[in-house]
Parts: sequence; C-alpha cells; structure tokens
Amino acid sequence: MPNCAQYDKLPSLQPLLFNPCCYTCQDYTWALGKKEIAAVKPELVVFSDRNSRNFQCGLPLSCSYMLNFDNTQMAKRVFSGFRPTGKQHIGNYLGTIQNCVSLQADYDCVYCVVDIHALTTLESTEALQEDVYEMVLDWLAAGIDPQKSIIFVQSHVPQVEELHTLFSMLTPLSWLLRVPTFKEKVKMQPQNVNYGLVGYPVLMTADIALYKGEVVPVGEDQLPHLELAREIVRRFNSLYGFVFPEPQAKLTSFPLVAGLDGVQKMSKSYNNHIEIAASPEEIMTRVRTGFTDPARRYRSDPGHPEACNIFALHKFFTPARVEEIASECRHASIGCVDCKKILARSISSALEPFREKRAVFVAKPNYVTEVLAEGANRAQAIAEETIKEAKEKMKLPRRVNLGDIRE
Ligand code: ADP
Repeated sequence: MPNCAQYDKLPSLQPLLFNPCCYTCQDYTWALGKKEIAAVKPELVVFSDRNSRNFQCGLPLSCSYMLNFDNTQMAKRVFSGFRPTGKQHIGNYLGTIQNCVSLQADYDCVYCVVDIHALTTLESTEALQEDVYEMVLDWLAAGIDPQKSIIFVQSHVPQVEELHTLFSMLTPLSWLLRVPTFKEKVKMQPQNVNYGLVGYPVLMTADIALYKGEVVPVGEDQLPHLELAREIVRRFNSLYGFVFPEPQAKLTSFPLVAGLDGVQKMSKSYNNHIEIAASPEEIMTRVRTGFTDPARRYRSDPGHPEACNIFALHKFFTPARVEEIASECRHASIGCVDCKKILARSISSALEPFREKRAVFVAKPNYVTEVLAEGANRAQAIAEETIKEAKEKMKLPRRVNLGDIRE
C-alpha cells in the first residue's frame, strides 16, 4: 500500500478503510460513507457517529499521513428539505417522497423539515409545530424509515445558519434576483418581500452542503434552486478549496403534478391539492372539483386525455386501465364524472396501506418527537464537522481555548 505509514498498525481497519486507490487525505478527519467503526487500537482510535460520514481517527496532529482508501464504495449522501406545510399532498408524494423512500436502499439519506425557510412566507407561526408533526407522520407512514435515514428539523441544527451566512458572502445578488420563484413570490406577497425571500436559495444550498448532499430528490419546480446551489458550491470550492460536492437533482417519473385547478402545480398554497392522508370521502370530494379537458363541454364531446390532469393522475393510480380509460374518453363512451369516480377509488385504495400505517404512528404520542430528537443529534454531528472544515478552508481565524495557551 503506497504512502500509508500507519497502515501496518491498522490491520482490523484494512478491509473497511484502506484500499490502494483514489482518495488521498492529509487531515485526521475524513468524510466517508456509511460505515460504523468502533475503537480499533489504543493508539489509533477510530470512531464514527451512527450513519454519519464523519470518521475520526485519533492520529497525532503533528503527523502528516497520506492515507489511501476507496471512497467509490461509500454510499453517496441524499438530502432533501421540505417546508412544514402540514399534511402532504399527492404532488409532494409523486414528485419527491416516493424517491426519498426508494433511495434509502442504496444511499445515506438525510431528510429535513425546513422550518426556517417557512418563515419567508408565513404570516403566523401558530400552526408550525402542528404542521411539522403532521408532515413527519406522513413521511413515516409513506416509508421514510428513521432506522435508515436521518429525519430532523432545520432549526434544531443551527450550523445551517452559519453556513448560510458564509455562502451569502460569496453569492452575487444578481444570481438571486433572477430566480423565477423569487419573482413569483414577489407577486404573491408584495406586502412581505423580505430579505430571507431573496436569500432562500442560499439557505437551501447551506442545507444541502452542510450534509455534503450529492443527490437531491426534488420536484421539477425546484430545479432552478438546485442549479443555483451548484453554482454557489462551485464558487466556494474554487475560492477556498474543495469542501462541497455539487448536488444533483433526482426527479421521479412524475416530476410535476398539476393541481386540481388545472392551472398551477399541485400545492397547498393554491388549495388545489389532495392530501395523501385524506379519507376516501375527502378524496372523492376533492377529485370531483378537478378541472378536466376544457374542450369537452358536453358528455357527448370526445375528450383529449393528454390535456386532462385527471387522466394524468390515472397514469399513476390506475395503470392497469389507463389505455382503456384513454380510449373511452376519446370516444366519449365515458363521462368526466365517471372517470373521476374511478380515479377517486384508485387513489383511495392506493393510499389505504398508508392510512393504516399512519394511524399506528398516531397512536404512539411521543414517536415523532423521539424521531426528530434522535435525528437532530445525528445531523448535528455531521454539521459540526462540515462547518469546521469550511471555516478552516476559508482561513477564518481559529478560536483558541484559553486553557490551551495558559499553563
Ligand atoms: P408545496 O408546493 O406544497 O408548498 P413544497 O414547496 O414544500 O410543497 O415542496 C416539497 C417537495 O415536494 C419539493 O421537493 C417539491 O419539488 C415537491 N413538490 C411540491 N409540489 C409538487 C408538485 N405539484 N409536483 C411535483 N413535486 C412537487
């Protein structure tokens, strides 16, 4: 093994850490993938936080070791943040949550309720706690598993605010002013165009970068933000040296779910949504209000399924009958009312296991609180390492403990 002075002292680490290729590091802290290692040798104590990428090795600081290990085998980190909008809707599920669930099999996942982001648009914070609770319940019921993933609340790990400030110093204002969602928000809330609103993508970048997120499951609406996040970390890395990987968006096959109004994307802000926790009756009521093909004014008019957002939902929820429904619509042998009834029933039965699982979690009153408390601890351990690394790279003056310089 080249360049690894201590390699022979680490026999039990060999299969886990060291491999004669690709990654070289001179520091005594490494960012790695998902592995758990306990103490190995008295002179070389190696440990990691559970599910954390921060492996620390108690090598003396005075030594400069060239340690080689294979980081190609390490699981990439997934990060996704959701504003606390309470119960989740089908757009959230199809656009993002289903990916968050499936990615857990192969990646190291971190999922965050971004409550600070919510402050950019909220008029009142009264419902915030409740919204966080309802939202996390939906995630858990949908299959996000706290044994596999870190689930936490953004404001519980304050290092994100530090990284946000550092990033804001290297992000040109012109980049932020051209973001489409900023322009949209200015129109939506002209009475509250706050400083946080323009910095929203900088905070989002800090969220992802703090956990060195490489894969970001999002809906299509978030792509401009993610592009900006990539530009910001690229700028940091080129100014100060590499710390942050460039995050890549991960879309589902349903990256943009239209709202029931047929105009906007499905969103709670537009009240054009169907909640995934909705009862069969609520689903039926909601679907009944759905906008359909505008050219089909009478039952006898032939329809255009490709222009109908009810049909778009059939593609996901009624896959076995989708061709048949399209053909019946085109030949006007099925009306919109019946087509909607089929959809409501399909959605209800697809979400039944979800409702059952959710009820189990509701019956455990402290469960969500425990998940979030554990998640915050795990997230904070990673965040502390990253912020330390970023500040060192930026050459910010190091804070010295008095005890270290006084006898
Ligand atoms: P909302 O739009 O309901 O306020 P958020 O903006 O907090 O929800 O979005 C949370 C996640 O869900 C993001 O990754 C976003 O891209 C995704 N998402 C939200 N609405 C949709 C939609 N209509 N179609 C696809 N994905 C969506």
